[in-house]
Amino acid sequence: MSDQQPLGNFTSKDAPDYEDVLQCMRCGFCLPTCPTFALTGRERSSPRGRVALARAVAEGKLDFNQAMKDEAFFCLDCRACTTACPSGVKAGEVMEVCRAQVHQQLKAPKWQGTLRNLVLKKMVPNPGLMETSMLPARLYQKLGIQWLVRNSKILKLGPVWIDKAEGMLPELHAPLRPQLPDLSPAKGEKRGTVAFFLGCVMTLLYPEVSRQTVKVLNHQGFDVITPKEQKCCGAPHLTEGDRETTREIAAFNLDLFLDLEVDAIVTDCAGCGAALKEYEEILAEREDHDRLHLFRQKIKDISEFLCEQGIRTEGLKPVDKSVTYHEPCHLCHAQGISKQPRALIQAIPGVDFREMKEASWCCGSAATFSLKFTDESQKILDRKLENVRKTGAEVLVTGNPGCHLQLAWGLQQAQMPQPVLHITELLGLATPD
Ligand code: SF4
Ligand code: SF4
Repeated sequence: MSDQQPLGNFTSKDAPDYEDVLQCMRCGFCLPTCPTFALTGRERSSPRGRVALARAVAEGKLDFNQAMKDEAFFCLDCRACTTACPSGVKAGEVMEVCRAQVHQQLKAPKWQGTLRNLVLKKMVPNPGLMETSMLPARLYQKLGIQWLVRNSKILKLGPVWIDKAEGMLPELHAPLRPQLPDLSPAKGEKRGTVAFFLGCVMTLLYPEVSRQTVKVLNHQGFDVITPKEQKCCGAPHLTEGDRETTREIAAFNLDLFLDLEVDAIVTDCAGCGAALKEYEEILAEREDHDRLHLFRQKIKDISEFLCEQGIRTEGLKPVDKSVTYHEPCHLCHAQGISKQPRALIQAIPGVDFREMKEASWCCGSAATFSLKFTDESQKILDRKLENVRKTGAEVLVTGNPGCHLQLAWGLQQAQMPQPVLHITELLGLATPD
Protein backbone atom coordinates (compact mmCIF):
# COMPACT_ATOMS: atom_id res chain seq x y z
CA MET A 1 0.00 0.00 0.00
CA SER A 2 2.82 2.50 -0.68
CA ASP A 3 4.23 3.81 -3.95
CA GLN A 4 2.69 2.16 -7.00
CA GLN A 5 1.09 3.02 -10.34
CA PRO A 6 -1.73 5.57 -9.98
CA LEU A 7 -4.97 3.70 -9.45
CA GLY A 8 -8.03 5.47 -10.82
CA ASN A 9 -8.45 8.71 -8.90
CA PHE A 10 -5.99 7.78 -6.16
CA THR A 11 -2.49 9.25 -6.39
CA SER A 12 0.35 6.75 -6.71
CA LYS A 13 1.77 7.43 -3.25
CA ASP A 14 0.18 5.55 -0.35
CA ALA A 15 -2.97 4.35 -2.06
CA PRO A 16 -5.04 1.25 -1.23
CA ASP A 17 -4.32 -1.92 -3.23
CA TYR A 18 -7.06 -2.61 -5.76
CA GLU A 19 -7.34 -6.25 -4.60
CA ASP A 20 -8.14 -5.03 -1.10
CA VAL A 21 -11.30 -3.30 -2.31
CA LEU A 22 -12.21 -5.87 -4.98
CA GLN A 23 -12.60 -8.69 -2.46
CA CYS A 24 -15.83 -7.32 -0.99
CA MET A 25 -18.75 -9.50 -2.12
CA ARG A 26 -21.29 -7.22 -0.41
CA CYS A 27 -22.56 -9.99 1.89
CA GLY A 28 -23.19 -7.59 4.79
CA PHE A 29 -21.74 -9.85 7.51
CA CYS A 30 -19.71 -6.87 8.70
CA LEU A 31 -22.68 -4.54 9.17
CA PRO A 32 -23.76 -5.59 12.71
CA THR A 33 -20.17 -5.31 13.94
CA CYS A 34 -19.56 -1.72 12.85
CA PRO A 35 -20.10 0.94 15.54
CA THR A 36 -20.46 3.81 13.06
CA PHE A 37 -23.07 1.90 11.05
CA ALA A 38 -24.90 1.08 14.29
CA LEU A 39 -24.93 4.79 15.13
CA THR A 40 -25.98 6.18 11.78
CA GLY A 41 -27.63 3.37 9.82
CA ARG A 42 -25.89 4.94 6.79
CA GLU A 43 -24.52 2.56 4.18
CA ARG A 44 -21.56 4.83 3.42
CA SER A 45 -20.58 4.73 7.14
CA SER A 46 -20.46 0.92 7.09
CA PRO A 47 -17.45 -1.23 6.15
CA ARG A 48 -19.21 -2.34 2.95
CA GLY A 49 -20.09 1.24 2.04
CA ARG A 50 -16.60 2.54 2.76
CA VAL A 51 -15.02 -0.15 0.64
CA ALA A 52 -17.50 0.63 -2.16
CA LEU A 53 -16.48 4.31 -2.02
CA ALA A 54 -12.80 3.38 -2.21
CA ARG A 55 -13.50 1.02 -5.11
CA ALA A 56 -15.35 3.75 -7.00
CA VAL A 57 -12.31 6.04 -6.58
CA ALA A 58 -9.97 3.23 -7.64
CA GLU A 59 -12.05 2.64 -10.78
CA GLY A 60 -12.13 6.34 -11.66
CA LYS A 61 -15.91 6.58 -11.12
CA LEU A 62 -15.62 8.97 -8.17
CA ASP A 63 -13.20 11.77 -7.37
CA PHE A 64 -11.39 11.57 -4.06
CA ASN A 65 -13.85 13.98 -2.49
CA GLN A 66 -15.14 15.29 0.82
CA ALA A 67 -17.27 12.16 1.37
CA MET A 68 -14.12 10.03 1.17
CA LYS A 69 -12.40 12.31 3.66
CA ASP A 70 -15.38 12.22 6.03
CA GLU A 71 -15.63 8.43 5.99
CA ALA A 72 -11.87 7.92 6.25
CA PHE A 73 -11.81 9.90 9.50
CA PHE A 74 -15.23 8.82 10.82
CA CYS A 75 -14.13 5.18 10.66
CA LEU A 76 -12.85 4.21 14.12
CA ASP A 77 -10.31 1.84 12.56
CA CYS A 78 -11.56 -0.59 15.20
CA ARG A 79 -11.17 -3.52 12.77
CA ALA A 80 -14.27 -5.30 14.08
CA CYS A 81 -15.31 -5.64 10.43
CA THR A 82 -12.05 -7.44 9.63
CA THR A 83 -12.81 -10.08 12.26
CA ALA A 84 -16.31 -10.55 10.80
CA CYS A 85 -15.49 -10.53 7.08
CA PRO A 86 -15.39 -13.95 5.37
CA SER A 87 -13.47 -12.47 2.41
CA GLY A 88 -10.67 -10.95 4.44
CA VAL A 89 -11.59 -7.37 3.53
CA LYS A 90 -9.87 -4.86 5.80
CA ALA A 91 -12.11 -1.83 5.58
CA GLY A 92 -10.46 -0.11 8.56
CA GLU A 93 -7.01 -0.42 7.04
CA VAL A 94 -8.27 0.77 3.65
CA MET A 95 -9.69 3.87 5.38
CA GLU A 96 -6.41 4.36 7.24
CA VAL A 97 -4.56 4.45 3.90
CA CYS A 98 -7.21 6.81 2.51
CA ARG A 99 -6.28 9.30 5.25
CA ALA A 100 -2.90 9.66 3.53
CA GLN A 101 -4.78 10.49 0.32
CA VAL A 102 -6.74 13.21 2.11
CA HIS A 103 -3.54 15.15 2.75
CA GLN A 104 -2.36 14.67 -0.83
CA GLN A 105 -5.61 15.46 -2.60
CA LEU A 106 -7.70 17.88 -0.55
CA LYS A 107 -6.72 21.41 0.39
CA ALA A 108 -6.42 22.39 4.04
CA PRO A 109 -5.47 25.73 5.66
CA LYS A 110 -1.70 26.23 5.70
CA TRP A 111 -1.57 26.50 9.49
CA GLN A 112 -3.05 23.00 9.78
CA GLY A 113 -0.25 21.54 7.67
CA THR A 114 2.39 23.43 9.66
CA LEU A 115 0.95 22.29 12.99
CA ARG A 116 0.58 18.72 11.77
CA ASN A 117 4.19 18.61 10.60
CA LEU A 118 5.43 20.11 13.87
CA VAL A 119 3.61 17.53 15.96
CA LEU A 120 3.98 14.42 13.82
CA LYS A 121 7.39 14.94 12.26
CA LYS A 122 9.28 16.93 14.91
CA MET A 123 7.75 16.21 18.30
CA VAL A 124 6.30 12.70 18.39
CA PRO A 125 9.39 10.93 16.99
CA ASN A 126 11.56 12.69 19.60
CA PRO A 127 11.02 11.16 23.07
CA GLY A 128 13.02 13.89 24.86
CA LEU A 129 10.94 16.63 23.26
CA MET A 130 7.72 14.81 24.13
CA GLU A 131 8.80 14.54 27.74
CA THR A 132 9.65 18.25 27.91
CA SER A 133 6.33 19.16 26.30
CA MET A 134 4.47 17.51 29.20
CA LEU A 135 6.11 19.74 31.80
CA PRO A 136 3.50 22.56 31.55
CA ALA A 137 0.70 20.01 32.01
CA ARG A 138 2.40 18.61 35.10
CA LEU A 139 2.84 22.11 36.53
CA TYR A 140 -0.80 22.85 35.69
CA GLN A 141 -1.77 19.98 37.97
CA LYS A 142 0.87 20.45 40.66
CA LEU A 143 0.29 24.21 41.12
CA GLY A 144 -3.45 23.73 41.60
CA ILE A 145 -4.41 25.51 38.36
CA GLN A 146 -6.30 22.41 37.27
CA TRP A 147 -8.36 22.52 40.45
CA LEU A 148 -9.25 26.16 39.77
CA VAL A 149 -10.10 25.51 36.12
CA ARG A 150 -12.29 22.53 36.95
CA ASN A 151 -14.11 24.25 39.77
CA SER A 152 -14.69 27.46 37.81
CA LYS A 153 -16.19 25.33 34.99
CA ILE A 154 -14.67 27.86 32.59
CA LEU A 155 -13.98 25.16 30.02
CA LYS A 156 -17.71 24.54 29.63
CA LEU A 157 -17.78 27.87 27.74
CA GLY A 158 -15.46 26.62 24.98
CA PRO A 159 -15.57 23.75 22.47
CA VAL A 160 -16.68 20.43 24.00
CA TRP A 161 -13.52 18.64 22.93
CA ILE A 162 -11.28 20.92 25.03
CA ASP A 163 -13.35 20.25 28.16
CA LYS A 164 -13.25 16.52 27.44
CA ALA A 165 -9.50 16.48 26.73
CA GLU A 166 -8.81 18.28 29.98
CA GLY A 167 -11.16 15.98 31.88
CA MET A 168 -9.41 12.89 30.51
CA LEU A 169 -5.98 13.94 31.72
CA PRO A 170 -4.85 11.42 34.34
CA GLU A 171 -2.72 12.47 37.30
CA LEU A 172 0.66 13.08 35.69
CA HIS A 173 3.99 11.86 37.00
CA ALA A 174 7.57 12.01 35.75
CA PRO A 175 7.96 10.08 32.47
CA LEU A 176 9.13 6.53 32.95
CA ARG A 177 11.61 6.23 30.05
CA PRO A 178 14.51 8.05 31.76
CA GLN A 179 13.83 6.22 35.03
CA LEU A 180 13.89 2.63 33.81
CA PRO A 181 17.30 0.98 34.01
CA ASP A 182 18.78 -0.31 30.75
CA LEU A 183 18.53 -3.78 32.27
CA SER A 184 16.02 -4.85 34.92
CA PRO A 185 17.15 -8.28 36.11
CA ALA A 186 14.96 -11.37 36.42
CA LYS A 187 13.97 -12.63 39.84
CA GLY A 188 14.30 -16.27 40.80
CA GLU A 189 15.12 -18.80 38.12
CA LYS A 190 15.78 -16.94 34.88
CA ARG A 191 13.63 -17.96 31.89
CA GLY A 192 14.86 -15.56 29.23
CA THR A 193 15.53 -11.99 28.14
CA VAL A 194 13.08 -9.59 26.53
CA ALA A 195 13.29 -6.08 25.13
CA PHE A 196 10.60 -3.70 26.31
CA PHE A 197 8.87 -1.45 23.79
CA LEU A 198 7.62 1.27 26.09
CA GLY A 199 5.52 3.46 23.78
CA CYS A 200 5.16 7.23 24.17
CA VAL A 201 1.66 7.36 25.69
CA MET A 202 2.54 4.80 28.33
CA THR A 203 5.73 6.55 29.46
CA LEU A 204 4.03 9.97 29.55
CA LEU A 205 0.53 9.23 30.82
CA TYR A 206 0.71 5.83 32.48
CA PRO A 207 4.26 5.36 33.81
CA GLU A 208 2.99 3.23 36.71
CA VAL A 209 1.43 0.73 34.31
CA SER A 210 4.70 0.12 32.52
CA ARG A 211 6.61 0.03 35.81
CA GLN A 212 4.28 -2.82 36.81
CA THR A 213 4.86 -4.51 33.43
CA VAL A 214 8.61 -4.60 34.09
CA LYS A 215 8.05 -5.79 37.67
CA VAL A 216 5.76 -8.60 36.46
CA LEU A 217 8.21 -9.68 33.74
CA ASN A 218 11.09 -9.71 36.24
CA HIS A 219 9.06 -11.74 38.73
CA GLN A 220 8.13 -14.15 35.96
CA GLY A 221 11.85 -14.77 35.39
CA PHE A 222 12.76 -12.43 32.52
CA ASP A 223 15.55 -9.91 32.21
CA VAL A 224 14.07 -6.76 30.70
CA ILE A 225 16.17 -4.55 28.43
CA THR A 226 14.73 -1.09 27.70
CA PRO A 227 16.58 0.70 24.88
CA LYS A 228 16.27 4.40 25.69
CA GLU A 229 16.66 5.54 22.09
CA GLN A 230 13.39 3.90 21.01
CA LYS A 231 10.89 6.11 19.25
CA CYS A 232 7.10 6.16 19.11
CA CYS A 233 5.71 3.10 17.26
CA GLY A 234 4.31 5.28 14.44
CA ALA A 235 0.62 4.54 15.16
CA PRO A 236 -0.32 8.24 15.58
CA HIS A 237 1.13 8.89 12.13
CA LEU A 238 -0.86 6.06 10.56
CA THR A 239 -3.96 7.43 12.24
CA GLU A 240 -3.37 10.92 10.83
CA GLY A 241 -2.34 9.73 7.37
CA ASP A 242 1.41 10.42 7.64
CA ARG A 243 2.68 7.03 6.44
CA GLU A 244 6.01 8.52 5.35
CA THR A 245 7.01 9.32 8.94
CA THR A 246 5.76 5.91 10.08
CA ARG A 247 8.18 4.30 7.62
CA GLU A 248 11.10 6.38 8.95
CA ILE A 249 10.25 5.54 12.56
CA ALA A 250 9.67 1.87 11.75
CA ALA A 251 13.07 1.56 10.06
CA PHE A 252 14.75 3.09 13.11
CA ASN A 253 12.96 0.92 15.68
CA LEU A 254 13.46 -2.22 13.63
CA ASP A 255 17.24 -1.78 13.45
CA LEU A 256 17.48 -0.75 17.11
CA PHE A 257 15.56 -3.75 18.47
CA LEU A 258 16.95 -6.36 16.10
CA ASP A 259 20.47 -5.47 17.26
CA LEU A 260 19.54 -6.75 20.74
CA GLU A 261 19.92 -10.39 21.62
CA VAL A 262 16.49 -11.01 23.07
CA ASP A 263 13.88 -13.74 22.91
CA ALA A 264 11.01 -11.33 22.34
CA ILE A 265 10.11 -7.65 22.07
CA VAL A 266 7.28 -7.09 24.53
CA THR A 267 4.83 -4.20 24.69
CA ASP A 268 1.99 -3.42 27.10
CA CYS A 269 0.23 -1.07 24.68
CA ALA A 270 -2.24 -2.74 22.28
CA GLY A 271 -1.99 0.13 19.80
CA CYS A 272 1.82 -0.07 19.74
CA GLY A 273 1.72 -3.87 19.37
CA ALA A 274 -0.63 -3.66 16.40
CA ALA A 275 1.53 -1.00 14.69
CA LEU A 276 4.79 -2.88 15.37
CA LYS A 277 3.31 -6.06 13.92
CA GLU A 278 2.45 -4.10 10.77
CA TYR A 279 6.05 -2.98 10.16
CA GLU A 280 6.49 -5.98 7.88
CA GLU A 281 3.77 -4.59 5.62
CA ILE A 282 4.68 -0.92 6.08
CA LEU A 283 8.33 -1.59 5.11
CA ALA A 284 7.46 -4.22 2.50
CA GLU A 285 9.49 -2.38 -0.16
CA ARG A 286 12.73 -3.06 1.71
CA GLU A 287 14.76 -6.01 0.55
CA ASP A 288 15.57 -7.53 3.95
CA HIS A 289 12.35 -9.53 4.23
CA ASP A 290 13.96 -12.02 6.62
CA ARG A 291 14.71 -9.25 9.12
CA LEU A 292 11.22 -7.82 8.74
CA HIS A 293 9.73 -11.23 9.38
CA LEU A 294 12.02 -11.88 12.34
CA PHE A 295 10.95 -8.56 13.88
CA ARG A 296 7.28 -9.47 13.34
CA GLN A 297 7.82 -12.83 15.03
CA LYS A 298 9.46 -11.22 18.05
CA ILE A 299 6.75 -8.64 18.78
CA LYS A 300 4.50 -9.81 21.61
CA ASP A 301 1.78 -8.18 23.59
CA ILE A 302 2.46 -8.74 27.30
CA SER A 303 -0.59 -11.03 27.67
CA GLU A 304 0.36 -12.99 24.56
CA PHE A 305 3.94 -13.39 25.81
CA LEU A 306 3.06 -14.47 29.35
CA CYS A 307 0.51 -17.00 28.09
CA GLU A 308 2.97 -18.47 25.61
CA GLN A 309 5.61 -18.79 28.31
CA GLY A 310 3.15 -20.04 30.93
CA ILE A 311 2.55 -17.84 33.94
CA ARG A 312 4.24 -18.78 37.20
CA THR A 313 1.51 -18.60 39.81
CA GLU A 314 3.54 -19.71 42.82
CA GLY A 315 4.12 -16.76 45.13
CA LEU A 316 1.24 -14.70 43.71
CA LYS A 317 -0.84 -12.97 46.37
CA PRO A 318 -4.64 -13.20 46.22
CA VAL A 319 -6.55 -10.26 44.76
CA ASP A 320 -10.04 -10.59 46.18
CA LYS A 321 -11.90 -8.52 43.59
CA SER A 322 -14.56 -9.08 40.96
CA VAL A 323 -13.09 -8.10 37.62
CA THR A 324 -14.43 -7.55 34.12
CA TYR A 325 -12.45 -7.03 30.94
CA HIS A 326 -12.80 -4.62 28.02
CA GLU A 327 -10.99 -5.84 24.90
CA PRO A 328 -9.00 -3.12 23.12
CA CYS A 329 -9.82 -3.24 19.39
CA HIS A 330 -6.14 -3.21 18.53
CA LEU A 331 -5.62 -6.27 20.68
CA CYS A 332 -8.60 -8.47 19.78
CA HIS A 333 -9.35 -7.42 16.21
CA ALA A 334 -5.95 -6.21 14.98
CA GLN A 335 -3.85 -8.88 16.73
CA GLY A 336 -6.35 -11.68 17.38
CA ILE A 337 -5.52 -11.70 21.10
CA SER A 338 -8.65 -12.42 23.12
CA LYS A 339 -8.19 -15.54 25.22
CA GLN A 340 -4.82 -14.63 26.69
CA PRO A 341 -5.83 -11.59 28.81
CA ARG A 342 -8.79 -13.55 30.21
CA ALA A 343 -6.53 -16.50 31.02
CA LEU A 344 -4.12 -14.22 32.88
CA ILE A 345 -6.87 -12.51 34.87
CA GLN A 346 -8.30 -15.87 35.85
CA ALA A 347 -4.86 -17.18 36.85
CA ILE A 348 -4.68 -14.61 39.66
CA PRO A 349 -5.77 -16.18 42.93
CA GLY A 350 -8.87 -14.64 44.47
CA VAL A 351 -10.14 -12.93 41.30
CA ASP A 352 -13.82 -13.38 40.46
CA PHE A 353 -13.85 -12.88 36.67
CA ARG A 354 -17.10 -11.62 35.15
CA GLU A 355 -17.45 -11.70 31.38
CA MET A 356 -18.88 -8.53 29.90
CA LYS A 357 -21.44 -8.48 27.09
CA GLU A 358 -19.94 -7.06 23.88
CA ALA A 359 -16.48 -7.00 25.45
CA SER A 360 -14.90 -6.55 22.01
CA TRP A 361 -17.17 -3.64 20.98
CA CYS A 362 -15.15 -0.41 20.69
CA CYS A 363 -15.24 2.02 23.65
CA GLY A 364 -15.35 5.07 21.35
CA SER A 365 -11.78 6.22 22.03
CA ALA A 366 -10.06 5.37 18.72
CA ALA A 367 -7.11 7.78 18.92
CA THR A 368 -8.48 11.28 18.25
CA PHE A 369 -12.02 10.09 17.32
CA SER A 370 -13.20 10.72 20.90
CA LEU A 371 -12.25 14.40 20.56
CA LYS A 372 -13.22 14.94 16.92
CA PHE A 373 -16.63 13.25 17.22
CA THR A 374 -17.55 13.87 20.85
CA ASP A 375 -21.29 13.07 20.50
CA GLU A 376 -20.79 9.82 18.61
CA SER A 377 -17.95 8.81 20.91
CA GLN A 378 -20.20 9.40 23.93
CA LYS A 379 -22.94 7.16 22.50
CA ILE A 380 -20.46 4.36 21.89
CA LEU A 381 -19.04 4.84 25.38
CA ASP A 382 -22.50 4.80 27.00
CA ARG A 383 -23.15 1.38 25.45
CA LYS A 384 -19.86 0.12 26.91
CA LEU A 385 -20.52 1.59 30.36
CA GLU A 386 -23.94 -0.05 30.50
CA ASN A 387 -22.32 -3.40 29.81
CA VAL A 388 -19.74 -2.73 32.53
CA ARG A 389 -22.52 -1.81 34.95
CA LYS A 390 -24.42 -5.05 34.27
CA THR A 391 -21.45 -7.18 35.32
CA GLY A 392 -21.47 -5.66 38.82
CA ALA A 393 -17.67 -6.01 38.78
CA GLU A 394 -15.53 -3.93 41.13
CA VAL A 395 -12.65 -3.44 38.67
CA LEU A 396 -12.49 -2.85 34.92
CA VAL A 397 -9.36 -4.18 33.23
CA THR A 398 -8.07 -3.28 29.78
CA GLY A 399 -4.79 -3.17 27.87
CA ASN A 400 -4.50 0.01 25.84
CA PRO A 401 -3.89 3.59 26.99
CA GLY A 402 -6.52 5.11 24.67
CA CYS A 403 -9.23 2.81 26.05
CA HIS A 404 -7.91 3.46 29.56
CA LEU A 405 -8.31 7.24 29.20
CA GLN A 406 -11.76 7.01 27.65
CA LEU A 407 -13.13 4.42 30.10
CA ALA A 408 -11.73 6.13 33.21
CA TRP A 409 -13.24 9.44 32.08
CA GLY A 410 -16.58 7.81 31.21
CA LEU A 411 -16.83 5.97 34.52
CA GLN A 412 -16.09 9.17 36.41
CA GLN A 413 -18.67 11.15 34.43
CA ALA A 414 -21.26 8.41 35.02
CA GLN A 415 -20.34 8.36 38.72
CA MET A 416 -19.54 4.68 38.53
CA PRO A 417 -17.07 3.44 41.15
CA GLN A 418 -14.89 1.03 39.16
CA PRO A 419 -11.23 1.90 38.77
CA VAL A 420 -9.69 1.08 35.39
CA LEU A 421 -6.56 -1.04 35.62
CA HIS A 422 -4.21 -2.28 32.97
CA ILE A 423 -3.80 -6.03 33.07
CA THR A 424 -0.23 -5.68 34.37
CA GLU A 425 -1.47 -3.43 37.18
CA LEU A 426 -3.82 -6.23 38.22
CA LEU A 427 -0.99 -8.75 37.94
CA GLY A 428 1.22 -6.28 39.81
CA LEU A 429 -1.21 -6.31 42.75
CA ALA A 430 -0.71 -10.07 42.95
CA THR A 431 3.06 -9.92 42.44
CA PRO A 432 5.32 -9.51 45.50
CA ASP A 433 7.84 -6.63 45.37
S1 SF4 B 1 -16.55 -6.09 3.81
FE1 SF4 B 1 -16.57 -8.35 4.01
S2 SF4 B 1 -18.28 -8.79 5.39
FE2 SF4 B 1 -18.57 -6.68 4.67
S3 SF4 B 1 -19.90 -6.85 2.86
FE3 SF4 B 1 -17.78 -6.89 2.10
S4 SF4 B 1 -17.25 -9.08 2.01
FE4 SF4 B 1 -19.08 -8.93 3.30
S1 SF4 C 1 -12.93 -0.37 11.24
FE1 SF4 C 1 -14.66 -0.28 12.70
S2 SF4 C 1 -15.65 1.71 12.29
FE2 SF4 C 1 -14.30 1.27 10.54
S3 SF4 C 1 -15.61 0.26 9.03
FE3 SF4 C 1 -14.67 -1.38 10.25
S4 SF4 C 1 -16.11 -1.81 11.92
FE4 SF4 C 1 -16.69 0.17 11.02
